[in-house]
Amino acid sequence: MKIFILLALATAAAAVRYDGYQALRVEPRDELQLDFLNNLKNELEGRISFWSQPRTIKRPTDILVQPRFQDDIKELLDAKQIKYSVMIDDVQSVIDSQFRSEDEVEISADFIYSLYHTYAEIQAWVFDIADEYSSIAQQFQIATSYHGRAINALKISTGGGGTKKAVYWQGGIHAREWISPATVMFITKSLLERYGVDNDVTEILDTFDFYIVPSLNVDGYYHSWNFDRLWRKTRSVNRGNGCRGVDPNRNYEYEWGGEGANPNPCTETYPGPNAFSEREIADTTSFLLNANQEFVCFIDFHSYSQLWLAPWSYTARTRLPEDVEDHFDAGMKAITALESVYNTDYLYGPSALTLYAASGCSVDWGYAKLGAKYSYVVELRDMGSYGFLLPSDQIIPTGEETLEGVLALCKHMVEEYK
Ligand SMILES: [Zn+2]
Repeated sequence: MKIFILLALATAAAAVRYDGYQALRVEPRDELQLDFLNNLKNELEGRISFWSQPRTIKRPTDILVQPRFQDDIKELLDAKQIKYSVMIDDVQSVIDSQFRSEDEVEISADFIYSLYHTYAEIQAWVFDIADEYSSIAQQFQIATSYHGRAINALKISTGGGGTKKAVYWQGGIHAREWISPATVMFITKSLLERYGVDNDVTEILDTFDFYIVPSLNVDGYYHSWNFDRLWRKTRSVNRGNGCRGVDPNRNYEYEWGGEGANPNPCTETYPGPNAFSEREIADTTSFLLNANQEFVCFIDFHSYSQLWLAPWSYTARTRLPEDVEDHFDAGMKAITALESVYNTDYLYGPSALTLYAASGCSVDWGYAKLGAKYSYVVELRDMGSYGFLLPSDQIIPTGEETLEGVLALCKHMVEEYK
């Protein structure tokens, strides 16, 4: 018992705290104000953290500011007449309110979808759900993390011997976006339990094989649970630099290292020393390329902002993909169905044009390299009230609406491919 207490204390002492940190919502109204925010970002990188990039006036920029810089930042914004508001007054208190106690972990013999789950619980869930639906689902280890952790995946197949077209979904590429794995698990479970019961789901699963990874960046996720709730990147060591981690969603081998990636390893958008430097990304992409199936759908679930985005992500200065109209039709069906559940407002568009350019991203790789026609990146709830710290009472509603979105997309694909 003594050892346990000492360990617990050590963990608590090592954890990054955000007492008094504020999340500011900044709403630039023109290019001049955007430029100012970008300069601010470049100058203060490391001291203040941008939760969203200041690249468009269509969406606000959210900034995490530690207490000692708050007055200065607000003065600067006031001086430039840039509109802002305090979105979260004390980030640590929101984090504290969301952590489950160890007691809750122990009493939950059944998997509780309305709670956030640890790395170990999510990996065990993959085994358990495969077991529960063993006639159509099987689990396998798709990848291994930098720290040697298993990254488990689920394959759902109702037959066909691998001749069917395939769908790939992944969650948790960014560690702090906890709603992503939670949602991927919810929609996966819903598909499985509705097979043979709901005609649409049955037809979808009879048409496509599914490969699903609920939590991809497991080292980052573990770190987010145990040391720093707001950790985003992987946990790999950057040679010659004290800052750890690579942005796994800048690490894909398609237009790697271009716009929206920062060569400084200490930034949140560091793309790594080379494409596929991160084992998590190298392993999963290699599996998909060697799976010997034709992928027609690739979705990477993130949070937050409520966006359904299509290629291209790497730049806004190029022609849109030849499938742009089909991307639009299917994407609009998805968000219309999604919005109909709880009136959650979503925006659809090509990624770089809608938001900002980000190179080396999964959505472009899924489309251009894997050849999945319907490749999207989905930014789940919310619009920034809690940002990455979405309360667990929103897990089920987010799952329910996202399920309707993906079902509408799958029905579109069934029409096209059946
Ligand atoms: Zn993300």
